Amino acid sequence: MIRKKLRYFKAISSILAVPSSAELSRSQFEAFSRQIPLLYGLLIINTVAVAYTHFRVAPNWLSIYAPFALCSVCGARVILWLRARKIELSDVAITKRLRSTLQLVVLLGAVFTAWGLLLYPFGDAYAKCHVAFYISITVIGCIFCLMHMRTAALSMTFIVLTPFVVFFLASQNAVLIAIAINMMLVAAVMVVVLLIYYRDFADLIESQRSLLIKHAETERLSAENFQLANLDTLTRLPNRRRFFSDLDELLLTAREAKQGAALGVVDLNGFKAINDLYGHHFGDRLLEEVGRRLAILSSPCMSAARVGGDEFGLLFRGDVSEARLLELSDAICALLERPYELAEGTARLSASLGIAVFPDAGTTAVELSERADYALLFVKDRRRGGVAIFSSEHETQIKRHAEIEQALKRPDFGHEVSVFFQPIFDVSSRRIVAFEALARWDSPTLGAISPADFFVVAERTDLIYPLTDVLLRKALEAAATWPSQVGISFNLSARDVSSAEAVDRVIRTALASGVAPNRINFEVTETALIQNVSCAQETLGALKKLGVQVSLDDFGTGYSSLSYVHRLPIDKLKVDRSFVADIAGDPVARAVVKSIVDLCKNLGLACIIEGVETASQANVLRGLGCTLMQGYFFGRPIAGADVLDAIATNGFPSETLLPN
Ligand code: C2E
Ligand code: CA
Ligand code: CA
Repeated sequence: MIRKKLRYFKAISSILAVPSSAELSRSQFEAFSRQIPLLYGLLIINTVAVAYTHFRVAPNWLSIYAPFALCSVCGARVILWLRARKIELSDVAITKRLRSTLQLVVLLGAVFTAWGLLLYPFGDAYAKCHVAFYISITVIGCIFCLMHMRTAALSMTFIVLTPFVVFFLASQNAVLIAIAINMMLVAAVMVVVLLIYYRDFADLIESQRSLLIKHAETERLSAENFQLANLDTLTRLPNRRRFFSDLDELLLTAREAKQGAALGVVDLNGFKAINDLYGHHFGDRLLEEVGRRLAILSSPCMSAARVGGDEFGLLFRGDVSEARLLELSDAICALLERPYELAEGTARLSASLGIAVFPDAGTTAVELSERADYALLFVKDRRRGGVAIFSSEHETQIKRHAEIEQALKRPDFGHEVSVFFQPIFDVSSRRIVAFEALARWDSPTLGAISPADFFVVAERTDLIYPLTDVLLRKALEAAATWPSQVGISFNLSARDVSSAEAVDRVIRTALASGVAPNRINFEVTETALIQNVSCAQETLGALKKLGVQVSLDDFGTGYSSLSYVHRLPIDKLKVDRSFVADIAGDPVARAVVKSIVDLCKNLGLACIIEGVETASQANVLRGLGCTLMQGYFFGRPIAGADVLDAIATNGFPSETLLPN
């Protein structure tokens, strides 16, 4: 029983309460606000009419002052509303206003009804009917105006009609009793209509609200999808797809608005080795940091994107003069070369950058990205790191490379190449210990071509495999005729050690030559090994099983040399000639060579110094503890036919060398 009562009470109080939904409160308030002038206008006009019919009949305080005061309150309310209607209200303020409106409605309903009933005794029969008519018609009007505020409308019905009905039922006048009963019925119907209307209104607001929520959710999801489709999740930079769509847009404005545009590609030198050695997790953290640094440098003039594993794309807008591009690129390289302090340790990288400028280097996205890639290759081939802007020099080189490629494909190419040999001396015994085989190509169509040029082309195509094959065969054929204490050193390209199949070809050729494996040395460059350290470990391991030796060529020109030398099965280091050039006058170069020599001693590696051109260089190097040397000072590369003579005469330079 008590529970039932409690349920009723709860139901009634929920009907009468101010709604808890902020949207519903706001909609109610807005709908009601529009009715305010009507509501009070109706009240004022009806009140003035009743006051008029009771003028001089009722005492002045009832027929003049009281209605005047009541109408003034209503007028003030309308003026306040006119002033405040443009103010944006918070949800809390709206709830407050709704509560005060409710209180005001109850108060005004009670006061106006009391006023009407107080006037009643003074009028004649018509005037009495006017009062009954006034109260009933006014309350119906007010309830209509309060339609959107169920609580206020119901309170008004109750506050006005209860005294009204009681008063007129008690009047003992059949007409007035009939009016009271009519009014009760009308009120009952109105309450039903009101409840239905209000429920529909609340439902409408609720469905509007859920539509808005759904709409917002859809917008959020589509924004998220857009982000996912266009952002690289690791670095938070735009991804490849976004990069190329931005590039298309940039080229469109460049064409139409004659605005400058250029495309850049950034490659991280040494990243692959770090990734291999320290794992992908470390590599990912590194790429994240690279992304952060590129984002720092991004501006309306330059934006960065991640277009591949460790490859980043750049778009330049506006001023794309060479000076400006170099300035921006230098800033990028400098920032990317700063040490990466990660939780797992510190890493260092360098960056190479290739740039293609619209429209000189190309007018389409494909052309520009090919040219930028080409400029990048150009930088990397020269092993300098840094920046290259695609230029006519590259254009000439592309043509030249195409010609070389054609010439390399000629069926009798094998007869056009030969091998020259450069002696490697042991300065302590003053004897030739080995020769390095160096390829020479005299093409009937293109003339003599430097190996540096044709190996680049051969490496980019599968032509490198037959080329290595023919050169190695020729070199070993020559070596087979030399005294057994003289070794042969042969250069392998990156592709030759990049897979088990490739290295198998080398092994087969070496075995077929009949030259004792312990006389053979293979030279590989750091750049060849860095591309895939774990694969290099395997292929070098396979070579070493043969019994041959392996040297690391051009040591010092790479990026992370020392960190992985000891992980590879290497026997010798060949110190790049760039360290030798200034060795006589440059203490830094001397210190570097000294530390490499010490490193070799510690790791049990032999150390060969390349590019020794003068006696003073040889003397300084000797002083630093170097014994194995190679270079023009000791002998230029010579034809195979001259090697035996050179061995016999052992042309050790006559210039005096410092004693040990
Ligand atoms: P590399 O292996 O570093 O060979 C040494 C290069 O330095 C040779 O140039 C040699 O002629 C040159 N050189 C030797 N002594 C001196 C010196 O005192 N001063 C100066 N300035 N240069 C000196 P080359 O023969 O033009 O070879 C260039 C590069 O081409 C080689 O560099 C090597 O990377 C590549 N190469 C040559 N032959 C072969 C080969 O048979 N196979 C492969 N894969 N690469 C080869
Ligand atoms: Ca070499
Ligand atoms: Ca070298």
